[in-house]
Amino acid sequence: MLEECGADLLHIDVMDGHFVPNITIGPVVVEAIKEVATIPLDVHLMISDPDYYAESFINAGADYLTVHAESTPHVHRVVQKIKAAGIKAGVSLNPHTPISILENILDNIDLVLIMSVNPGFGGQSFIPHSLEKIRQLKKMLIKNGANHIEIEVDGGIKLENIKAVSDAGCDIFVSGSGIFKVENSQEIIKKMKTLISE
Ligand code: ZN
Repeated sequence: MLEECGADLLHIDVMDGHFVPNITIGPVVVEAIKEVATIPLDVHLMISDPDYYAESFINAGADYLTVHAESTPHVHRVVQKIKAAGIKAGVSLNPHTPISILENILDNIDLVLIMSVNPGFGGQSFIPHSLEKIRQLKKMLIKNGANHIEIEVDGGIKLENIKAVSDAGCDIFVSGSGIFKVENSQEIIKKMKTLISE
């Protein structure tokens, strides 16, 4: 359905009931999605010990694999492992985590995922300060010659705020409720794409 509606990526939220309160799905389900999906899988690990589990998700068919900066003392090592597997490596930041934490790993990542809600549940509202954080991140990437790194934003993105998120510098927009809890998902995705291309 999502492919027919025009989604460019399938964003998969993996939660372990430890790093975040909820438990969702693991590598077996990601592998099953990979068998039928024709668009890339963007796998967001909200789990403890991503160093240990990264390989299972790489083998399951992730095209993008993102780990949380707060979930491991070895972010550099785990993103290196992901890059070495030939897929895109991302680092995600919770709302309270400063972007300065990324300064020494810009050479090793393809994507930064800014959480615009606290991770763990769907249906939350976009935290307004996220816009300033995205703007600061964009500036930092340009200043460091790392503007090839994509900025992704996850949490509370809807038709009403997607333009502001785009104007702040976002490249990849994750929307759950914004496209599932509407009557016509196809129409909404189309409208979202028009708004961000303006
Ligand atoms: Zn996510």
